[in-house]
Amino acid sequence: TFSPSDALSRIKPSPTMAATQAARDLKAAGRDIISLGAGEPDFDTPDFVKDAAINAIRNGKTKYTAVDGIAELKQAIVAKFKRDNGLDYDTTQITVAPGGKAVLYNALVATMNRGDEVIIPAPYWVSYPDMVLLTGGKPIIVAAGAESNFKLTPEALEKAITPKTKWFIFNSPSNPTGAAYTREEVKALTDVLLKHPHVWVMSDDMYEHIVYDNFEFATPAQVAPKLYDRTLTVNGASKAYAMTGWRIGFAGGPLPLIKAMAKVMSQSTSNACSISQYASVAALNGDQSFLAARNDAFKTRRDLVVEMLNDATGIECARPEGAFYVYPSCAGTIGKKTPEGVIIDSDETFTSELLNAEGVAAVFGAAFGLSPFFRVSYAAATEELRDACTRIQRFTASLQ
Ligand code: PLP
Repeated sequence: TFSPSDALSRIKPSPTMAATQAARDLKAAGRDIISLGAGEPDFDTPDFVKDAAINAIRNGKTKYTAVDGIAELKQAIVAKFKRDNGLDYDTTQITVAPGGKAVLYNALVATMNRGDEVIIPAPYWVSYPDMVLLTGGKPIIVAAGAESNFKLTPEALEKAITPKTKWFIFNSPSNPTGAAYTREEVKALTDVLLKHPHVWVMSDDMYEHIVYDNFEFATPAQVAPKLYDRTLTVNGASKAYAMTGWRIGFAGGPLPLIKAMAKVMSQSTSNACSISQYASVAALNGDQSFLAARNDAFKTRRDLVVEMLNDATGIECARPEGAFYVYPSCAGTIGKKTPEGVIIDSDETFTSELLNAEGVAAVFGAAFGLSPFFRVSYAAATEELRDACTRIQRFTASLQ
């Protein structure tokens, strides 16, 4: 009989992937479903990136590469960190892996010992706690709720640090809330971290380029250069360049950590897809102006969704600075009853009844560690979003 490892028993399948799959299954069964569960841009990968991949195939760039990335891509990443973040890395300090997810996981595998603690602000991206559990560590979940605009306060960070703290995972703009930290807010946190030299910083900057209203993105190693030697600055092609399926994530960090991560990769995944790596060189070195046009479209959708959700009875929705998510509260619906007599007792019941009644798929807040909320991805066509929000309004109005 099959018997899972102890490590596997500690974790659950990704709830966002499960929600996306549930919506896909219902659609395949013929139901009229609008999925607001996806964590990916609905835009296509830019043509100049696709062309670079096709050229790579034609030119025979189809073999194993250096384990943690081709030299051309590492150079493009060095230039990106300099250009966008004012960070100086040597190519030896760059790692490339099959997705941002793999970068984060490799870093944890390379550094975690049993019982090591990792501070994770909640709501969090679903994979952080489970990755920590897989590597034998202990996730320390620290609330960063609506009252602080879903941002961790320096006081809460200070209180969570113990002698066993190994990493602090920082994610701005955030999945699932879209909240992004200003330079001053980042500095308030890095000031705390500077007092605790044993704590390393994993900065997940995957949504760096998706910000609105002239928001200025800032990352910890840039704000506090003294943290450079213990910060892994993580980014990738998935969200900025609409390349989720290509599987390219990357990071810059201190040489010993980057080398340790390459060692992990050499005995597990080996290199990220060679073709995707050449495509990413084009993405990073190419004209970045399409990003602004895409952000304009995202911003219009954000504003539409925030307004329409706030018009739904029992729903309150903040207007976040970035990413393509909003994280509305459904507190005002808790305790109410659907016309079929189901009592909304949690955000999980809220989203499952919403799916049943109106065919709108969203992800319940408990999956991200903060209830009663739900995550709506607005990486969908504007008309579809309008339709979905009308359905949510109808659903909440039907509750008694
Ligand atoms: N970090 C955050 C905050 C994300 O939202 C995601 C994707 O959903 C990732 C990392 C992983 O990205 P990738 O698809 O490159 O593995």
